[in-house]
Amino acid sequence: MSVERIQTLIVGGGQAGLAMSEQLTQRGLPHIVLERHRIAERWRTERWDGLHANGPAWHDRLPGMPIPGVEPDGFAARNQMVDYFVAYAERIAAPVRSGIAVTALHRTADGFRAETSAGAIEAVNVVAATGPFQRATVPAVVPPESGIVQMHSNAYRNPGQLPAGAVLVVGAGSSGAQIADELARAGRRVYLSVGRHERPPRQYRGRDFCWWLGVLGLWDARRPDPAVKHVTIAVSGAYGGHTIDFRRMAARGVTLLGRADGFAEGAMRFAPDLAANLAHGDASYLSILDAADAYVAREGLDLPEEPTARHVEPDPACVTDPTLRLDLQESGISAIVWATGYALDFGWLHADAFDQRGAPIHQRGISEVPGLYFLGLSWLSRRASAFIFGVHRDAAHLAEHIAARA
Ligand SMILES: Cc1cc2nc3c(=O)[nH]c(=O)nc-3n(C[C@H](O)[C@H](O)[C@H](O)COP(=O)(O)OP(=O)(O)OC[C@H]3O[C@@H](n4cnc5c(N)ncnc54)[C@H](O)[C@@H]3O)c2cc1C
Repeated sequence: MSVERIQTLIVGGGQAGLAMSEQLTQRGLPHIVLERHRIAERWRTERWDGLHANGPAWHDRLPGMPIPGVEPDGFAARNQMVDYFVAYAERIAAPVRSGIAVTALHRTADGFRAETSAGAIEAVNVVAATGPFQRATVPAVVPPESGIVQMHSNAYRNPGQLPAGAVLVVGAGSSGAQIADELARAGRRVYLSVGRHERPPRQYRGRDFCWWLGVLGLWDARRPDPAVKHVTIAVSGAYGGHTIDFRRMAARGVTLLGRADGFAEGAMRFAPDLAANLAHGDASYLSILDAADAYVAREGLDLPEEPTARHVEPDPACVTDPTLRLDLQESGISAIVWATGYALDFGWLHADAFDQRGAPIHQRGISEVPGLYFLGLSWLSRRASAFIFGVHRDAAHLAEHIAARA
């Protein structure tokens, strides 16, 4: 049986796969995109109903096409993001084949052979664009016999999905903070375990933090330390967009807890680090205000001063007298949402391109295996790499490399 051959095979039809396709098309380079489900599948089935883009529509988009129906300063809803990526794929005539999974990829004498759910494909180049957040990680802490409904944030949809009762949300990055907020607004009793985080101001002196990170050069920041995988940034585009302020959440009835530390005899334990974690978040928040003020002064900009932005609410009782042990039954907790992040999973990719921890070895996405590329990973080249607006720059870099090889 003859095997289909293509110059470049892109695996994954999310924003990274589409950005890569656009850059290859611009250079007249033949390619196909294989997507195991549908375009933007993670936005369809791995994110909650009420999620909005974390950045305003002028920012959280791919180049060359605004998000239809969303004001530039507005925040696109989850389904608007899905529609956007589908429309974008149509606009660039991306050769996406949906419903085809790459089950294995091996090197050949002159490239790669992909085994797919629709037969084998050979390619000279392969771009793995399968996402920065591939496999949900749930610490196996609370045994299933506890009778508590447990799910990762990627399986959470809406408050009505959870049994009646209080909810413990573990993790206070953007997902955990937003889900806890949504549950509290829906009238649920919520406990929120808060670890180390950054929480930039949604807006300061009339500009969104996405704008500030841009002018301050922070989107271009290189990975600060190889041990840092992913900086948890707590931001929200929900309810029109707002600054995550854990103390205000506490004032609305959310009980804040330190980092979850284990489970024994029906009770969760929490580290005595809540005040320190909030202080760390405050420091990151204030550092952006300081940097923004310095930038305004240096550039002589006419942006209105905003001294009230520096006001920090007093610590609530759950911070000054933290709960270190929480009996789940006594607290009426019927569900736990683990907003504890993701791991990579390149089990399908059989090439000598990974370190001992299974992390891809690459320089700005170019692996040591000729013709093998990674795109869309956190900190691939800079902070912006895994974000919607940032991926195309890395895609352009890879496309240049692929063009040079051709
Ligand atoms: C809850 C959440 C909200 C986020 N919100 C924002 C935001 O508002 N703004 C922003 O800039 N960033 C946001 N991000 C970060 C980032 O933009 C998203 O994670 C985005 O989905 C990454 O796009 P991607 O194309 O790199 O990967 P993915 O969206 O993960 O796409 C990868 C695709 O590859 C497919 N695939 C995987 N394996 C295979 C295989 N073997 N064969 C074929 N196909 C395969 C998957 O089905 C998937 O469709 C968010 C992340 C999360 C987790």
